[in-house]
Amino acid sequence: MNIVFLGAPGAGKGTQASMLAKKYQIPHISTGDIFRQNIKDQTPIGLVAKGYIDRGQLVPDEVTVELVKGRICQDDCVNGFILDGFPRDVAQAEALANFAKIDAVIDIVIPLDRLTKRLTGRRICAKCGESYHVDFLGGVSNCSKCDGELIQRADDTVETVQNRLNVYTVKTAPVIEFYENTGLLKDVNGDQPVQDVFQEIIEVLNDLH
Ligand code: ADP
Ligand code: ZN
Repeated sequence: MNIVFLGAPGAGKGTQASMLAKKYQIPHISTGDIFRQNIKDQTPIGLVAKGYIDRGQLVPDEVTVELVKGRICQDDCVNGFILDGFPRDVAQAEALANFAKIDAVIDIVIPLDRLTKRLTGRRICAKCGESYHVDFLGGVSNCSKCDGELIQRADDTVETVQNRLNVYTVKTAPVIEFYENTGLLKDVNGDQPVQDVFQEIIEVLNDLH
């Protein structure tokens, strides 16, 4: 199954996508993770992407679309894939429709006023990317999965978060309408515990068969 995850920054897309990828044994393709890896490795794509990401803006569509196209052509995607963070504007959604058949689009819905606190308090593992929130860490500074160091993402600062939420409202929210019109869109309530969100996603996907 080819699945797209939509949702504002901080809605929990990455967490849910990674849980679902494990359950279905299909790749979890996060454009944000791919860009961050490229920045770390100082690749040409990383050098282009860094300026945009640090300001909370979208990396240009040409770069992002080519990246995703190349990724989903790889062998491990033959039985399906989960896209997390793509498409992020209508042009990307239109491009995607030309090179892949999408079976379901899950929109993780959450009130926008919840997101700032989720994002600015987020800490991620520098090694494996697992995310945490300072409110639940109790002072712990290493990852419970791999013991990696927990850091704040460069774009999780107050100013950049505001830009990302604006970009979401202006550019990404219209993607919801795009998929509503194709009949693929399924809403899931993101304002509940992680396991409950996951349960809802599984039910939505089971109902498709
Ligand atoms: P979040 O969903 O929490 O904002 P991501 O890790 O998905 O985090 O994305 C981080 C940043 O990477 C975005 O703010 C943007 O700059 C860039 N990015 C990720 N996906 C895309 C995309 N599909 N198109 C353009 N830029 C992207
Ligand atoms: Zn880790």
